[in-house]
Amino acid sequence: MTVTKAYAATSPGSGLEAVSIERREPGPHDVEIAIEFCGLCHSDVHTIRQEWGSITFPLVPGHEILGQVTRTGSAVGLFAVGDTVGVGPMVDSCRECDSCLEGEEQYCSNSNTDTYGAIDARNGGAVTQGGYASSIVVDENYVLRIPEGMDHASAAPLLCAGITTYSPLRYLDVQAGDAVGVIGLGGLGHLAVKIAKALGATVTVFTTSPGKTGAATDLGADAVVLSSDPAAMAAAKDSLNAIIDTVAAAHDLNPYLRTLARDGALIQLGLPGEPMPAINPGTLISKRLAYGGSQTGGIAETQDMLDFCAEHGVAADIEMVAATGLNDAYDRMVAGDVKYRFVLDTSTL
Ligand code: ZN
Ligand code: ZN
Repeated sequence: MTVTKAYAATSPGSGLEAVSIERREPGPHDVEIAIEFCGLCHSDVHTIRQEWGSITFPLVPGHEILGQVTRTGSAVGLFAVGDTVGVGPMVDSCRECDSCLEGEEQYCSNSNTDTYGAIDARNGGAVTQGGYASSIVVDENYVLRIPEGMDHASAAPLLCAGITTYSPLRYLDVQAGDAVGVIGLGGLGHLAVKIAKALGATVTVFTTSPGKTGAATDLGADAVVLSSDPAAMAAAKDSLNAIIDTVAAAHDLNPYLRTLARDGALIQLGLPGEPMPAINPGTLISKRLAYGGSQTGGIAETQDMLDFCAEHGVAADIEMVAATGLNDAYDRMVAGDVKYRFVLDTSTL
C-alpha cells in the first residue's frame, strides 16, 4: 500500500477536507499515476451531497484525471514510466458482455466500475477513490494516452465532459455542413460547441440567459437562440440535424424538437432529478425524429476523442482551483458561476 494525499467527504454534510488514503500496490496490469490535475464534474457534487443515493464515507471524488505514470506492473504493455495519461469515469468493467466486447464499456451489462464510490470486485471489494488525490493506481486497459502538445490542465476535463459530448456527436455521425444545436452552455455545452465546430458543423446554442450570447459566439457558435423567446424559437423551426441537450434540470423538449429538420435527433445528456414534461409523439412522427440519451463513452472512443481534440486544438476553458477552494468551487458550480470547468491543481493538496 502507498499512502497518498487526497480531499474527501468524510461524513454527510462535511464538505471536502484533507485526508490520507491508501492506494494498492500496482498489480501485473496496473499503472501508478502521479496526478497533476483533476477536473470538477457536476457528478462529483451530486455524489458527495448524496443527491444520487447514499455513499460510503470517506469518499474522494474526481474522474477527470491527468498525470504521469510513475510505476508499471510486470505485465503492463501499453504504458511506460513518464507517459502522460488520463483516467475518466470508469476504471474497470466486466470485459465479457456485448457492450464491453464492442468497446462500449460505459454500457457494461454487469455495471462498469466507477472511478470513485464503486465496489472494486477485482481488487478485494474495496471502494474506489477518485482523482482529488496525489496518485491513483488503475488497470492499464482503462487508462488513456494524452497526446503530446496538449495543455495538461485544460485537457483534464476532456476525460468526462469531452467524451460525454463527443460520443453522441459521433453516434449521430455529424459531418461537415450539418447543423447542430447545443442546449445549455456549461461544462458540457461549451465542449459540445467546440467539438461540433471541429467536426465542421454549423452550431446554434440555445440558452435561457441573454447574457450568454457573447460567450457562445466567443466559443465559435454561429447562432444563439434565446429559448425563452417564442418568436426566436419559431424562427429556428426545422433548421437542425442534431441537438445535444446538456441541461440537467427538468425542461420542456417540445420547443427544441420543433427546431429539428426531418430525420433529426435530440440526444439528452443531463439527468434531471424530477420528471420532464411529456414529449408530443406527433412532433417525432411528423418528421421521423429520434429522441435518445447517452452517457460518457468507451475507452477506445475516449482515446479517439483525445486524439481528435489534440489535432483540432480543442480543450476546455478552465478556472484553476486549489484544494482549499474546492468547497467554494462546488457552490459556484451549482450556481452556474464558472467558465466553464474548474480544475484542481493537485500540487495544492
Ligand atoms: Zn463527469
Ligand atoms: Zn461488460
